[in-house]
Amino acid sequence: MKFDSIIIGAGSMGMAAAYFLAKAGKKVCMIDAFDPPHTNGSHHGETRIIRYAYGEGIEYVPLALRAAELWEELEHEVEKPLLLKTGVINIGNKDNAFVQTVIESARAFDLPLEVLNAEEITKRWPGIKVDDHMIAAFEPTSGVLRVEDCVAAYKALAIEAGATLHVNEPVQNIRCGDVVVVKTAVATYEADTCIVCAGAWTSELLKPFRLSLNPIRKTFAWFEAEEGLYGQENFPAFAVELKDACYYGFPSIDRAGYKIGRHDGGETIHPNDELRPFDEGDALDLQQFIQSYMPQVGALKEGKVCKYTMTPDEHFIIDYLPEHKNIIVASGFSGHGFKFSSAIGEMLAQMVIDGKSKLSNELFKLSRF
Ligand SMILES: Cc1cc2nc3c(=O)[nH]c(=O)nc-3n(C[C@H](O)[C@H](O)[C@H](O)COP(=O)(O)OP(=O)(O)OC[C@H]3O[C@@H](n4cnc5c(N)ncnc54)[C@H](O)[C@@H]3O)c2cc1C
Repeated sequence: MKFDSIIIGAGSMGMAAAYFLAKAGKKVCMIDAFDPPHTNGSHHGETRIIRYAYGEGIEYVPLALRAAELWEELEHEVEKPLLLKTGVINIGNKDNAFVQTVIESARAFDLPLEVLNAEEITKRWPGIKVDDHMIAAFEPTSGVLRVEDCVAAYKALAIEAGATLHVNEPVQNIRCGDVVVVKTAVATYEADTCIVCAGAWTSELLKPFRLSLNPIRKTFAWFEAEEGLYGQENFPAFAVELKDACYYGFPSIDRAGYKIGRHDGGETIHPNDELRPFDEGDALDLQQFIQSYMPQVGALKEGKVCKYTMTPDEHFIIDYLPEHKNIIVASGFSGHGFKFSSAIGEMLAQMVIDGKSKLSNELFKLSRF
């Protein structure tokens, strides 16, 4: 059977793209190495931050706002809460480039944002202690996505709209051409178009194209926390930009505990490698941050490992393969892609159907490398 489109990797981006394509009446086949949502890629750990005033670049704001609209539509469709509006604070020195870009983004797009000094931060959230020269940009409309539930919601709707999903079937080979031929250990599939969004494995699948992708090991952990200080009703999601490190975290959601991770750094891995489990060194690093900035957080409950797929400039890759306009690559989400996955799914479907997307992919083009 020949499909209109094969999606390699039915994770964060692939599942959303399948939904939009199937909804538009396309015959879609998703193939995944595991059974999404799962814990082997980049979409586990219960929560992801979504924010609109964007520190990584003002160009992302329209994509973030479209993503929020689509998350709300998805919530409606599946009748399940997916986005918790806890608000998000970005904390850093007054002259920190990330925090300044958050402020600039809010001004440019007229987004609600409060800027607080150190004293105001601690008065508002007694669980936070910051240095005197730090400020916070607080965006009250932003919040937290329930990551696995989001992937599961798009999965249910994509299948309902007619998409086929093959699980536990790693793709071994892709043959480019007018008809794209995709091989797994058990079958061969053909389609007119193909989206390769296999996360950390993308560069292995597209080796001849020498994509600038670097998979890394990341860790995160939950800690005991007093609900009055750190519970979802009282505490926002956050990112703290230090001189040589960046930590992000979440309030205790459904009483699961305060969750934190470190955004910068991490060991380069081969995507097929078994990740080294969360260890004492990982815990110590997070605890040092907690002791300085959120000292009332309690003992470690549980730590986990996950993968980021980095590009050299930490902007995404969403583009047609050179000389193969019927194959699109979507990867390199560099640890900040999930919030956009609804809008990127829509964008990928438009690229397949219309040959271009409504929102620009200029920042994400392969030609920049
Ligand atoms: C700890 C952590 C915290 C994060 N926090 C945030 C956050 O707060 N906010 C935010 O916006 N983003 C965050 N991110 C980033 C975000 O989760 C990722 O950018 C996003 O999930 C990447 O989506 P993806 O579709 O590329 O990868 P995935 O969701 O991992 O999907 C890739 C899929 O490809 C499949 N696959 C791989 N190889 C093959 C093959 N050979 N054949 C078939 N299928 C294959 C995999 O099984 C997988 O299902 C975080 C990431 C991590 C790890």
